[in-house]
Amino acid sequence: MIKVEKLSKSFGKQTVLHDISTTITQGEVVAVIGPSGSGKSTFLRCLNLLESPTSGRITINDKDITDPKTNILQVRQKIGMVFQHFHLFPHMNVIDNICFAPMKVKGWTKEQARSKALELLERVGLTDKSEAFPSKLSGGQKQRVAILRSLAMEPEIMLFDEPTSALDPEMVKEVLEVIRGLAESGMTMVIVTHEMRFAQEAADTIYFLDKGHLVEKAPPAQFFKRPDNERARQFLEKVL
Ligand code: ADP
Ligand code: MG
Repeated sequence: MIKVEKLSKSFGKQTVLHDISTTITQGEVVAVIGPSGSGKSTFLRCLNLLESPTSGRITINDKDITDPKTNILQVRQKIGMVFQHFHLFPHMNVIDNICFAPMKVKGWTKEQARSKALELLERVGLTDKSEAFPSKLSGGQKQRVAILRSLAMEPEIMLFDEPTSALDPEMVKEVLEVIRGLAESGMTMVIVTHEMRFAQEAADTIYFLDKGHLVEKAPPAQFFKRPDNERARQFLEKVL
């Protein structure tokens, strides 16, 4: 579903991604881990062209999204992204936050969008917050709404960049549960996370990035038992 070929990205003279090649299949859940500054966010941002690759090619469903002729906005409609900080629209209540993009971008009527939003809210137990403003929500609730806002666009792929890093510890679980549910529903996902246990349980494949190189790619059982890569072993010793 996603094919990455020799992807490199530089900022000025600094190369932060080196020749990354990989394939992610439909329904695969990839957890990307690695030290701070290893290029995890940049890798994710290249997948939906929030960053433009310096070289290499990314193909999504056989469409070369790095081709200059590609309509980036159309690509992004199919790829949802959730960040560490929630970026909800502060002046809109929860349901309007969720309805905004489908109405504006997909041309849905208010009724269509609201009915989809209510169905999503029910799925994560937030029906009673539909009229609340973001300032009245906990961090975990805000992040769940941010996820729903992406899902309302009916994406084929979801990207998460440290979705629980800004949360108080007691709110991490409720957000991971939503992401886990999505994984079980067959959504193709790439998740940058420091939650090793979650990565172990929810991912099909672990990617370990070190200094912009994809140095290890393995099923969690194998990776967490003993990674082949020395840097990955050192990293695990520190975080586990
Ligand atoms: P990670 O998410 O693994 O912590 P990042 O992808 O954010 O790593 O960053 C990788 C490297 O790229 C870092 O050295 C960072 O300073 C640099 N970098 C990231 N974004 C930019 C940018 N927009 N401009 C310049 N350098 C950047
Ligand atoms: Mg990052």
